[in-house]
Amino acid sequence: AKSAGRNRVRFFNPQMQEEVTARANLEADMRRGLRERQFYVEFQPVVDASGNVTGAEVLVRWRHPKKGVISPADFIPVAEATGLILPLGRWILESACQQLVAWSRDPRLGRLKLAVNISASQFHHPEFVRDVIEVLADTGADPRLLELELTESQLVEDAEAMIVNMNRLRDQGVRFSLDDFGTGYSSLSYLKRLPLDHLKIDQSFVRDLLVDPNDAAIVRTVIALGRSLDLEVIAEGVENDAQWQSLQALGCDLYQGYLFSRPVAVEVLQQLCRQRGSD
Ligand code: C2E
Ligand code: CA
Ligand code: CA
Ligand code: CA
Repeated sequence: AKSAGRNRVRFFNPQMQEEVTARANLEADMRRGLRERQFYVEFQPVVDASGNVTGAEVLVRWRHPKKGVISPADFIPVAEATGLILPLGRWILESACQQLVAWSRDPRLGRLKLAVNISASQFHHPEFVRDVIEVLADTGADPRLLELELTESQLVEDAEAMIVNMNRLRDQGVRFSLDDFGTGYSSLSYLKRLPLDHLKIDQSFVRDLLVDPNDAAIVRTVIALGRSLDLEVIAEGVENDAQWQSLQALGCDLYQGYLFSRPVAVEVLQQLCRQRGSD
């Protein structure tokens, strides 16, 4: 009776049926979007304590022909579930590396680092490491200017395999940062074993830093942890000057957020670097 009930729900709940159809449509649209180059990337600057741009995070967008621009929060999960994250992720990586090469001869832009988000299913794919090395070789990008952002929750999956893969890329010069830090449950013992360069404090803690003592305590702890592990700490979601002042006082190293710039097209990023400097 139970399974019949479940079937009945599946077949006769029009809302569920709609969701399934919507997802299938989105997948088909995404395949076509990849072929027809509807995806593009934006860049959100990362600044140091003086406000100089040291690099940017690469964030993907999708210009859907009928629905307009779709947020990655809406299509990345579908891309992960369908395997489309592999071709999409590789394209994003290629775009980032090509951008690094385009900047490489410019005295102002040639030292900018680019951080690329990597999904768990992408990182755990057996060919991921080879792909990254191949893209670096094909484009000629300097691996030391490429940073891969992994989330803390990814660590939980298969820590040992992850450390091996990270080290193989680290041997090539690639850097790593741990994204959304503070939201997962990574144990400090293997945090020490990961070849990381940066910890990114999740924006949920930065948001209420000035009003919620618990968030302030978490931010302070992450900065202290970063210092003791010799990692630079990046605060994301910095939206106002008071937050920035407070993070600076706490000894944070790098900052990212609407206070400095929203994610923008490459031309706008370059303009910002000229205004704000990039050293
Ligand atoms: P994330 O990696 O945590 O990226 C930071 C998100 O915070 C971005 O949203 C960014 O636009 C937003 N943000 C930046 N500064 C501020 C601020 O001051 N205030 C607020 N409220 N938000 C701020 P976005 O671009 O919509 O991306 C959402 C998520 O989608 C990302 O979270 C990441 O998990 C995923 N994503 C984006 N691009 C890629 C990609 O190329 N590959 C993969 N695998 N995931 C991506
Ligand atoms: Ca990120
Ligand atoms: Ca983040
Ligand atoms: Ca986040």
